[in-house]
Amino acid sequence: MAIEFGTASASLGERSTGWLFIGEDRDGSTFELPVAIINGSKPGKTLYVQAANDGNELNGIGVINRIVPQINPEEIAGQLLFVGIVNYHGFHANKHRNPLDDWKINRVYPGDENGSPSERIAHKITNVIKDVDLILDLHQASTSRMIHEVRIRCGRRHRLHNECMELAKVFGCGHIYDQKGPMGQLARVGPNNGIPTVDPELGGSVGWDHESIRRGVCGIWNVLAYYGFTDQSFDINEQVCATNMDHYGSPSGGFVKYEKDLGDEVSVGDVLFRITSAFGEQKATVRADTDGIFWRTRRLPQVSSGEYVCSIGTNTISV
Ligand SMILES: [Zn+2]
Repeated sequence: MAIEFGTASASLGERSTGWLFIGEDRDGSTFELPVAIINGSKPGKTLYVQAANDGNELNGIGVINRIVPQINPEEIAGQLLFVGIVNYHGFHANKHRNPLDDWKINRVYPGDENGSPSERIAHKITNVIKDVDLILDLHQASTSRMIHEVRIRCGRRHRLHNECMELAKVFGCGHIYDQKGPMGQLARVGPNNGIPTVDPELGGSVGWDHESIRRGVCGIWNVLAYYGFTDQSFDINEQVCATNMDHYGSPSGGFVKYEKDLGDEVSVGDVLFRITSAFGEQKATVRADTDGIFWRTRRLPQVSSGEYVCSIGTNTISV
């Protein structure tokens, strides 16, 4: 059976790209999101993948840009739906938020048909995901530096938590962050509608990071294998899961020198970073308050007193 997604239309065993109409821009021209569909030659599940929910998070676009041409629709069971760029105006302005209403789109799902520009995009996407079986919302730590991880946002008491954990492990970044997210995230609305949903967080970079993109492409191939879209076999590996995050700020102004690398294990009392003056004089040393994993850091070396420096993923367990 042929399927349609916006202006894209694909018969069995075909791929198609097109546009999903959202509304009109200030000049009266239409604005549409780029979409792709892969209609497998056999019946199966439906996977929905989107990128750039946050407009400056480009690695997910890189993943879709690489994987869509790699997949042979004739060898797929089921259907794949992609939205290449969700935060249309943020992407064009190279901003995290949507500059038209200054909202994070990932706080307004399920959206509103008659709402602000962000709410209208979220509403359209919520309609698209109604009938899918699995959702991947590709993110990254914006322009900060971060390990590769997958976030579970539904909360540990949610009825779909096990299914979301399974999907996170299958994607297989090696690290998982299992912490209920704020209201309005797609990774909360999806599970509330009975659809396992996770946020792969593909590192953090300015522009495209090719290692992060490679990890994302691998993650999608893992999902395709495990859930029967391809006839490849796939075994889940044990991973490290954090259920909390401790954030560290700088006690003084100056320049940060890290004593840990991303992904390192951290024990209470370990030195995390030192602050030096412009002339290299040591001003402060900051140590870990808890055990955990060195998870995320700011990108720029200069900090003022109280400014964010790094995060430790805590309460870690093997899953
Ligand atoms: Zn994001």
